Amino acid sequence: ISESRVADQWTKTTCGYCSVGCGMLVGTRDGKAVAVRGNPDHPVNLGKLCPKGLSEHQMIDTPGRARVPLLRRGGKGSPLEPISWDEALDVMVARITGLQRTYGSDTLGVIGTGQLLTEEFFTLGKLVQLGFRSRNYDGNTTLCMSSAVSGYKLSFGSDGPPGSYADMEHADVVLLVGSNIADNHPILCNRLRKRPGQVLIVADPRVTKTAMMADIHLPVKPRSDIALLNGIAHILLRDGMIDEAFLESHTEGLDELRRFVAEFTPETVARTTGLTVETIENIAFLYGTASSAFIGWTMGVNHSTQGSVTVAAINNLALLTGKIGQLGSAPFSITGQCNAMGTRESGFTSGMPGYRKFDSAKDRAELAVLWNIDEEELPKSRGLAYPDIIEAALDKRVRALWFIATNPVVSFPNVKLLTQALSTAEFVVVQDGFYPTPTMDYADLVLPAAIWGEKEGTYTNSERRVSKVNAFVAPPGEARSDFDIFLSIAERLGVRERLFSGWISSHDAWLEWQRVSAGRLCDYSAFTWAQLEEQGGAQWGGTSLYRDGVFPYDGGRAKLHCVPCLPFSEQPDKEFDFILNTGRTVEHWHTRTKTGAVPQLDRMVPNAWLEMNPIDADRLSLRQHDRIALVSRRARVEGIELRITGIVAPGQVFMPFHFAEQNSNLVTLGAFDPISREPNFKQCAVRVERSR
Ligand code: SF4
Repeated sequence: ISESRVADQWTKTTCGYCSVGCGMLVGTRDGKAVAVRGNPDHPVNLGKLCPKGLSEHQMIDTPGRARVPLLRRGGKGSPLEPISWDEALDVMVARITGLQRTYGSDTLGVIGTGQLLTEEFFTLGKLVQLGFRSRNYDGNTTLCMSSAVSGYKLSFGSDGPPGSYADMEHADVVLLVGSNIADNHPILCNRLRKRPGQVLIVADPRVTKTAMMADIHLPVKPRSDIALLNGIAHILLRDGMIDEAFLESHTEGLDELRRFVAEFTPETVARTTGLTVETIENIAFLYGTASSAFIGWTMGVNHSTQGSVTVAAINNLALLTGKIGQLGSAPFSITGQCNAMGTRESGFTSGMPGYRKFDSAKDRAELAVLWNIDEEELPKSRGLAYPDIIEAALDKRVRALWFIATNPVVSFPNVKLLTQALSTAEFVVVQDGFYPTPTMDYADLVLPAAIWGEKEGTYTNSERRVSKVNAFVAPPGEARSDFDIFLSIAERLGVRERLFSGWISSHDAWLEWQRVSAGRLCDYSAFTWAQLEEQGGAQWGGTSLYRDGVFPYDGGRAKLHCVPCLPFSEQPDKEFDFILNTGRTVEHWHTRTKTGAVPQLDRMVPNAWLEMNPIDADRLSLRQHDRIALVSRRARVEGIELRITGIVAPGQVFMPFHFAEQNSNLVTLGAFDPISREPNFKQCAVRVERSR
């Protein structure tokens, strides 16, 4: 090992990829990051890291980093040219406020991310609501976990995952629904099968790596999870495997649910799911009689037009059996991005800071006092969610778009419609740590941002653990932290003194966020940055929420919900005869903006592929590694490598969604959950042909 690659300083921080929230030590030398190790003292990962975490330092100092602001001086169609920060921010504020004067404040749509620091989300929320006075802001987190948020709100009256990772370890039974944590949350996957006798059940149409670990794999038909969950509820109620005292004291809706699930007999559910009656009876018995049981889910549930209510159907099982609020028992949404929780809590996604509600007079009055503003300045209702901002850009209700650390041209469903919206918008700002990204083809202005490793603050992981994130290198070129960019914009809007008085660093935002969250369910007021760093983070709400059985609904009772099974929006037919399922691979992160820049990860998985069952491959006379085209009513994607494998069932195909060149989102359908507005990335009708 050359001397230049040996670290002479180590900095504690938290991984900036997924929501597991692993603690790590980053080694630096001469101002460069040269090594990463898992932090052996961090309670989440005890020194372990996955391939993305182990190579995370390598994406920092790469040629694709954004270094200077860029502007299309000659308007649309002209090249992006380097400009100064002063000019960039002047142009941005002048163009947006100019459009707002003509078309109203809500003509600005802002799309954030789950990648920023909580302190940055808090600052951005204030800037957009009170500085720009737009209600149209949301996170790209709506593409991955807004259904978990809505489902928790439906059942419990508030967002907030009730359990912890330790529950997964201590549970007698773990049921994972639509969750391939071996690929997507690999370090969390280490918690499975630690306890002797633990039964692991995985419901997934595909034989994922996680399904391969299971004692029982349930290869359910696509979107039959609701039938399975209702069928389990039916058996629990039929056989008395319920906690009557808990139901009586802490829930409402039992009689309606009992009547509703009566028709979900094991025989009916067997026909809908493709499972046997014996299997369904067995799963219900295992869950119902276990002394502790954990239900985890991720995108197989959330990426659906029925995601929110599927979450409610999961929560029903926990409420029926009282398996919530105790060690080993929780209905638990495993989040996606490193700080998706931070954006939920600090109010940039779907609400106001501290889980406050727009329509609560008490919440609005309280926040107005904390912010020393007139209550009338606060939005009275939620503005448009991410997909609706895009739709509004198509018909010009929104004319200015600001994207922060997100790359929708790869990640948004039905990309053709999205790019039409981007082309229609009069002014598009893209703020990112890397360029070019495919989304920048549509940008009028590009702002270069600092990334993980170059700024300081906190992330909150899936188990509500707030962890410290530290800077260990300087941003490249003229790139600035998102926090600095937001304050500079506030300055130009003339609101910095009023809204961010005395703020210099992200720690000032942290201190205000602590005051604003104090006394709320997500209360950050008890921690200091120093404590978080020393202890490997701390969980707001402790290890379990709702230990006393009191839920944040008025009256304190959780709600049981009757959840019908609806067919998904686009059924296969003669012309488009396969159901497409999309997902991730362990080596890559989202649209590969970061992991594509890491040579080892790129070499391991450089291209997309399509998985097809051997029966279908035979029928179509296709062979292993043939180049195929994936065709839907929206688009045709050429040159994809075919992998023939029994991992997918006949009639289904699977493709990872990370790749700009072979983009699965050209073919996916723009269909959304009516409550959460999360897209249905999992099911649409496609056909497979030999590539031209
Ligand atoms: Fe980072 Fe997630 Fe991997 Fe942990 S599991 S190292 S948090 S990407």
